[in-house]
Amino acid sequence: MAEEVKSLNFIEHIIEEDLRNGFDQNSLRFRFPPEPNGYLHIGHASSICLNFGLGLEYNAPVNLRFDDTNPAKEEQEFVDAIKKDVSWLGFEWDKECYASDYFQQLYDWAVYLIQSGKAYVDSQTSEEMAAQKGTPTRPGTDSPYRNRSVEENLDLFERMKKGEFESGSHVLRAKIDMNSSNMLMRDPVMYRILHKSHHRTGDTWCIYPMYDWTHGESDYIEQISHSLCTLEFAMHRELYEWFLEQVYDTSQVKPKQREFARRNLSHTVVSKRKLLRLVQEKVVTGWDDPRMPTISGLRRRGYTPESIRKFADTIGIAKRENLIDVSLLEFCAREDLNKTAPRVMAVLDPLKIVITNYPEGKTEYVTAENNPEEENVTYRELPFSKELYIEREDFKEEANRKFFRLKLGGEVRLKNAYIIKAENVIKDADGTILEVHCTYDELSKSGSGTPESMRKVKGTLHWVSIPHAKKAEIRVYDRLFTEAEPDGHEDKDFLEFINPDSLSIVEGYIEPGLVEAAAGERFQFQRIGYFCVDPDSSKENPVFNKTVGLRDSWAKIAEK
Ligand code: ATP
Ligand code: MG
Repeated sequence: MAEEVKSLNFIEHIIEEDLRNGFDQNSLRFRFPPEPNGYLHIGHASSICLNFGLGLEYNAPVNLRFDDTNPAKEEQEFVDAIKKDVSWLGFEWDKECYASDYFQQLYDWAVYLIQSGKAYVDSQTSEEMAAQKGTPTRPGTDSPYRNRSVEENLDLFERMKKGEFESGSHVLRAKIDMNSSNMLMRDPVMYRILHKSHHRTGDTWCIYPMYDWTHGESDYIEQISHSLCTLEFAMHRELYEWFLEQVYDTSQVKPKQREFARRNLSHTVVSKRKLLRLVQEKVVTGWDDPRMPTISGLRRRGYTPESIRKFADTIGIAKRENLIDVSLLEFCAREDLNKTAPRVMAVLDPLKIVITNYPEGKTEYVTAENNPEEENVTYRELPFSKELYIEREDFKEEANRKFFRLKLGGEVRLKNAYIIKAENVIKDADGTILEVHCTYDELSKSGSGTPESMRKVKGTLHWVSIPHAKKAEIRVYDRLFTEAEPDGHEDKDFLEFINPDSLSIVEGYIEPGLVEAAAGERFQFQRIGYFCVDPDSSKENPVFNKTVGLRDSWAKIAEK
C-alpha cells in the first residue's frame, strides 16, 4: 500500500481501490508506451514519472513498450533516443517490448475474430467509408461488404497479408455497431495494407495493425494491470475493452485503461509532430537543440534529471488539461543546480580594469570556494593580475547611492581578492569606455586575516584575469516562442510566433580551469546564472549553454 502520509492522486486512488477489492498487489504492472516517431518531450516526462513512479511505489515492474505500428514514421534513431532519455531520467524498465513483436499474435487473433463473425474485409475506398460513418447524432450506414462470408473474409485477409493487393485497396474492420453513439465503435479499422519496410520487421509484413487494435492487446499480452494514457483516449476506452473482451481468458489479468490530462508547457509546443516541423524547417538545429522542450534538448541545456522529476512531481497529474508556466520548470532547475553546481567566474560582456598600483607582470593566486552548499567545502586557486575584466554593466561613471557596484571614486570588492577603487576612465572617440583605471588596497586581500581584509564595502564583483582568462562561446537562450500558447490559435500557424531572438551567441571570458570541463558539466557563473558545457565544446573552443538565470528575470519584468 502507498504511504498514508502523502496525499494520493486519482490514479493511485484507483489502484488502492482495486487492491482493496482483492486485486493482488503482485499482479500490478505498468508500461510507458511511446511511439518511436520522434524524440521524447517534457510532456512525456510526466507520463514516464507517473508510470515508473507507480512502479517504485508499488514495487511493480514497468515495461518500456514501443508502439511501433506505423512504419511510415518510425525509425531506429528514435528508439535509441527514447531509451537513452528514459534511462537518463533515472528509471529502469523491466522488459523492453515492441508492439511489432506481437504482429503474429495480433494476426492470429484477427483471424479468430473473422472466424467468429466479428471482423470483415472492406474493399471500399477510405472516402466511401468516411461517408458512411455518420455523425455523432446520425447513425452510420453498413458497408456493402459487411456481410461477406467468413470464408471470403479469411481468403481476402490472407491475401492481404501475402501482399497480393495494393496499399489502400482493402482493410480489415471489426464488426461492432454502425449505430453506436460512440463513433469509434462504428466498425473501426483493425488493419491496413501498407507496402513499407518496418524498422524491425523489415518486409515480413505489408499489413499493419491500427493503434486501437494493437494497444489493448499488447497490454494484455504483457499483463499490464493499469494502462494509463492521456485524455484524448477516453472515448477509445469502450473499444479498448471490446477488443480485450474478444480474446480475454478469465485466468489472466484484464488490463484497465484510465486517462489523465496531457501536460502542456507555456512558451513552447509539446507535440512530436510540431517539434518535427521545428527540426525539418530548421527553426532549431535538431531535436536536442537546447531551446527544444525535448528531454534531449533540456539535457543539453543543462537541466538535471532530478529537476525534471521534481517538476513532474510538483505539477502532479490532473483530470483536466491546463498550461503549466515554463518558469516553474526553470525554478526546479535553479533549486537543484543551486545545490550541486560549482561556482565559477566568467564575464560575458567584458570591461577592462587596470589596477595602476599593482606590479606589472605579476601573477598571484587567490583562493575561491567551489560551492558553499557542499557539506565539505572545497577550494581552488585563481590567478589574479594587474589587468582584469569585469562585467560592463557593473561599472558606471556616476550613479546614485543604490548602485552597489563600481563607480568613479567608489570601492568594491573583487570576489575572493582585493578591494579596488575606480579612479578614472579611458574612452574612445565615441565616448565608449575602453578601460577603467583603479587602485587597489594591498592589505585587503580576502582571507589574509588583516583588518583591511575584513573591511566591509557594499558591492562584490566577479572578474577574470585578462592574461589568464580563456575565450568561450556562450549561447544564451530565450523562450522559443513569444506567445504562452503558440499552438492555441485556430487561424494562425504556431511557427508565426517564433521568437527571433531565442538564441544569442556571446563571446565571453572564463576562468582558465574551465577549459578542462567535460561536455555536460554544469556550473554557476557567479552573479549570472547556470551554464552547462555543450557537446560542441573543446579545450581550444569552449562552448557553454545558459541553462537559467539566477533569478526569474521574467518575474522581475512583470513586477516593474
Ligand atoms: P505527441 O502528440 O507528442 O506525438 P503522443 O501521445 O502521440 O504525443 P506517444 O509516443 O504516443 O506520443 O506517447 C507516449 C505516452 O506519453 C502516451 O501514454 C501519451 O499519452 C503520453 N504523453 C504524450 N504527451 C504527453 C503530455 N503532453 N503529457 C502527458 N503525457 C503525455
Ligand atoms: Mg501517440
